[in-house]
Amino acid sequence: MLEAGTGVGGTWYWNRYPGARFDSESYSYGYSFSQEILDEWDWDECFSGQPEVERYCNFVADKLDLRRDIEFSARVDAAHYDDADGRWQIRLADGRTYRTRFLIAAIGLLSAPTMPRFDGIEEFAGEWTHTGLWPKEGIDFADKRVAVVGTGASGVQAIQEIAKTAGHLTVFQRRPNWCTPLHNRPIDEDEMTEIRADYPAIFQRCQESNACFVHTTDMRKTFEVSEAERLAFWEELYAGQGFGIWQGNFRDMLTDADANRLMSEFVADKIRERVDDPVTAERLIPKDHGFGTRRVPQETHYYEVFNQDNVDLVSILEEPIERVTTNGIQTSAKTYEFDVIVYATGFDAVTGIYDRIDFRGVGGVPLKEKWGDGPRTFVGVMVDAFPNMFMIMGPHASLGNNPRSIEYNVDWVSGLIKYMQAGDLTRADASPEAVADWNELVHRKAKRILASEVDSWMTGINLNVDGKDQRRVVVYSGTAPEYRNTCDDVAAGGYRELRFT
Ligand code: NAP
Repeated sequence: MLEAGTGVGGTWYWNRYPGARFDSESYSYGYSFSQEILDEWDWDECFSGQPEVERYCNFVADKLDLRRDIEFSARVDAAHYDDADGRWQIRLADGRTYRTRFLIAAIGLLSAPTMPRFDGIEEFAGEWTHTGLWPKEGIDFADKRVAVVGTGASGVQAIQEIAKTAGHLTVFQRRPNWCTPLHNRPIDEDEMTEIRADYPAIFQRCQESNACFVHTTDMRKTFEVSEAERLAFWEELYAGQGFGIWQGNFRDMLTDADANRLMSEFVADKIRERVDDPVTAERLIPKDHGFGTRRVPQETHYYEVFNQDNVDLVSILEEPIERVTTNGIQTSAKTYEFDVIVYATGFDAVTGIYDRIDFRGVGGVPLKEKWGDGPRTFVGVMVDAFPNMFMIMGPHASLGNNPRSIEYNVDWVSGLIKYMQAGDLTRADASPEAVADWNELVHRKAKRILASEVDSWMTGINLNVDGKDQRRVVVYSGTAPEYRNTCDDVAAGGYRELRFT
């Protein structure tokens, strides 16, 4: 295992910004494959914070004695397939090389942080960082003048925490997001005992839901119920925990524009109720996309932060950022002075991390070139002419409550490798026809959902990266059960979609 960080945890190692925490219920997010781990780990909170999650990852690594197989500070720069001996040649940033028959790319889908392209960004004399590259020693915000740029899920979590201690916090928002309450709370010993007894049912529920969360879609349609019933249901969801309001809503909420508009109005009114200044409230309400068509940030008193005297909201849409200066940020209206600037500006998502590693398949063809018009995969795990390379949660694989999808991908890849070993097969390649079929299905599914018509990382947009200004189908938007059925059928059918040597 080659790991770029100095410790385990991946996302939960790098994203150690204040306020970083689960948006999935902790007990639905942990590993399910080891009874010992389920028995021995107690979750402290319904939605655990980064320090606890990192402790959990370390606990698992120790429990399973994984460290002896991990090389830390090992960042992979290149992976080239050598046709002559059927092996991958891996090159690390420090020049070391490895050869391997099987290459598993477990490199994440939100793991390539991106900075804005502001002039003068390097000239800022104070402290500055990205939420996804947070320094281990932390940053003390007490009494400081702080800027946060970006209001996605990371920005929202960081803002509500930094606002507690900062002398003054200025939030630079480009497009607002629809945020809904997390309703986190501690888990006491008795509740943990109940959860432990309930684990089989919890994981079963995750398996059955569309995106592997504990929340399952309500099978009614928005306009099938009376207005009073609808509002009562939405009030219940708004008062409920986590992603219930996104994943457990009426079944047409993310596909029917009229249904989605009503739901958006409901959440807009909540924002208006919670933010004292009407002008600020309107700035915080998205006007360019409907509720749930981008990833919904989960919040804890986020909107109330803007009622605090020490917090200001600057809309970059009204007042564009012109440059960063040695002392702060200059917009078209004025220059703001800061001690610290936090960039919560997101990631070159899904394909970005694959672009950063020089992957080359048969004949030296770069993956970046092959995916020039968007990713093409077989079930998000394989790419034709990249033999024996398996992606865990690659582009066009099922996502959602990610550890559930990760475990499924890992099992499927393990099953395939065992099948190859049992049959003395040394090379597996996805057939171009199988890739074309999967690609067609993923594109067809994307047409159904409103989210496909909205700019976000889920539609391949990142204006901080060259060539990522056009929407692309980069994620699979079918349901997780459908995805697993397809992959299970492939395995049960003897992997007819692959070519073996
Ligand atoms: P993000 O959702 O892509 O948000 C990035 C933010 O930065 C957006 O508000 C964006 O504005 C803004 N931005 C980017 N470039 C900018 C620029 N040049 N000038 C001004 N503003 C700029 O990224 P994220 O918040 O890191 O979240 C990414 C994903 O990570 C989430 O959707 C979620 O899947 C995952 N995440 C999960 C958790 C959790 O589970 N607990 C927590 C955090 C993140 P625009 O919208 O206008 O582009």
